[in-house]
Amino acid sequence: MTLDQRWFTEAIETTGTAFSLMGEKIHEEQTPYQKIAIWKTQTFGYLMTIDGCTMVSTRDNFLYHEMMAHPALNSHPHPETVVIIGGGDCGTLREVLKHPEVKSATQVEIDERVTRLAEQYFPELCEKNNDPRATLFFGDGIQWMKNAAPDSIDLVIIDSTDPVGPAEGLFGKRFYTDCLRALRPDGMLIQQSESPLLHLELIRAMHTAMREAGFAQTHLLHFPQPIYPSGWWSASLACKKAGALTPRLDAQAIAALDTRYYNADTHRAAFALPTYVRAALAD
Ligand code: SAM
Repeated sequence: MTLDQRWFTEAIETTGTAFSLMGEKIHEEQTPYQKIAIWKTQTFGYLMTIDGCTMVSTRDNFLYHEMMAHPALNSHPHPETVVIIGGGDCGTLREVLKHPEVKSATQVEIDERVTRLAEQYFPELCEKNNDPRATLFFGDGIQWMKNAAPDSIDLVIIDSTDPVGPAEGLFGKRFYTDCLRALRPDGMLIQQSESPLLHLELIRAMHTAMREAGFAQTHLLHFPQPIYPSGWWSASLACKKAGALTPRLDAQAIAALDTRYYNADTHRAAFALPTYVRAALAD
């Protein structure tokens, strides 16, 4: 079958892979930072793409947003101050604000148009934008973190695009050093870290850079994400402090999060690494 113009396709030459969804492009605009498009797909609801790459779909975003928020929040002993870098579709912010112990969540998104389009096409992701604990700041996350007060944040969540263009600097030692300085002693950072199948070298380099920046330990967690390359995605967790992770997996507190993918079992399973990934991250 030949794919015609009724199909959105993200074809990536470097990995020799492609992913398609049938639908109709209903919006496209070039912002100062990137080209954003919205598709109305046949089976995945709305789809937002940035520079031709899938970002968020109505049908499967819960997998990513829940796993970017809850494993890290439940691994931290008392996450009160959370900063999200990127994340303009507001889905991660919504999950973060489900935690009653969070007192403030600041989202630092470089491109305001991502948020405005999310409000229009993904209103369910933006339902916590007016929560009194939420601040939506539009600006460069790299610059914002340089100016952040030392010892002021419990958790940094980096929900960014791929490491090219405006997001490139979010994957390097200098940025991690700024995050470390801004974190309190129990502080943690979690960052989307691409596919454990296609981008293992990048994941290795990220963990090395996080440790070189001074983080005492790094962990990988993984989860399905059908619209992203290979359908399998990861996040990397870096902790300022050494010592075993002691997650808070209280059944009642987890039930109150009203999640569709995340629970105590998927929390534990996400940190269980396949043999080849474990070996790659061991040295
Ligand atoms: N989950 C998606 C993925 O893994 O492909 C990414 C979600 S999307 C909301 C990521 C956001 O990061 C985009 O809206 C983009 O504008 C933003 N972004 C990229 N570089 C940034 C930077 N330097 N500072 C703040 N936001 C940035």
